[in-house]
Amino acid sequence: MNEFGFHRPATLKDALATLAASEDARALAGGQSLLPAMKLGLAAPSDLVDLSAITQMKGIAVGKGGLRIGALATHAEVAASADVRGAIPALARLADGIGDPAIRERGTLGGSLANNDPAACYPAALLALGATVHTDRRSIAADDFLTGLYETALEPGELIVSVEFPVPERASYQKFMQPASRYALVGVFVAKNRAGVRVAVTGAAACAFRSTGLEAALSANWSAASCDGVEISDDELNADMHASAAYRAHLIRVLARRAVEQAD
Ligand SMILES: Cc1cc2nc3c(=O)[nH]c(=O)nc-3n(C[C@H](O)[C@H](O)[C@H](O)COP(=O)(O)OP(=O)(O)OC[C@H]3O[C@@H](n4cnc5c(N)ncnc54)[C@H](O)[C@@H]3O)c2cc1C
Repeated sequence: MNEFGFHRPATLKDALATLAASEDARALAGGQSLLPAMKLGLAAPSDLVDLSAITQMKGIAVGKGGLRIGALATHAEVAASADVRGAIPALARLADGIGDPAIRERGTLGGSLANNDPAACYPAALLALGATVHTDRRSIAADDFLTGLYETALEPGELIVSVEFPVPERASYQKFMQPASRYALVGVFVAKNRAGVRVAVTGAAACAFRSTGLEAALSANWSAASCDGVEISDDELNADMHASAAYRAHLIRVLARRAVEQAD
């Protein structure tokens, strides 16, 4: 690992100023993705800006706009939160299924979304629930936030402060776990709202995406059987040593079915 400067600002303002002072400075949240990348030489920041002392980025609350979760909320906190379990139980279960206990104690919502790993779980929840990402300077709709493989709409030095999740009528996240990494080989998040159904898929392509075919079928008829008639193209899906594109397409339909059956 290369040498780097370490900073632990107490305020969001100071964190932004420290990030702006060096082109190669990186924010550090739970370190569960960034530190392994640094150990492997895939990232070599000049400075790490540890966000952990910034109270403005913490906390979980239910309000008018839905469930607001601070960027620094760990996966374990989200999983255990009575507010999350009450408002969106599927989100609490999603957090409880991430990695292992050590990763859930350290990894954060903001870190996961900013990292936008193609097999991460939270991006599917963000898209299916139609959440809004609040940063230090603007609010970004879920549909505009995830832009590609490990890419988001965040500008250099921009920090996620919190994420607001509208509360659905019912929802479920189903993940087919890659047994070695525990990431999603494929994960499907289904959310039913008064306006219709949103379905988001992770693990299957370069970036989480919405399945318009499943959304149309389930909006017309909310039943597991509705998924059966939807053609899932494997044209743009990942194929690797773990699964072919065709197998991932098959999993999308199976997991969507399961999600509808188990939605609460
Ligand atoms: C073995 C293993 C298994 C895992 N399994 C899963 C899984 O099943 N599902 C899943 O979803 N994830 C999984 N993860 C990833 C885990 O959820 C990480 O916690 C997450 O991807 C990164 O969060 P973090 O808080 O650790 O971020 P960090 O590693 O600290 O940061 C990641 C990136 O986000 C940036 N960043 C951090 N916070 C912010 C912020 N507030 N605003 C802007 N940028 C920010 C950092 O600069 C860095 O670029 C796994 C990780 C490991 C190591």
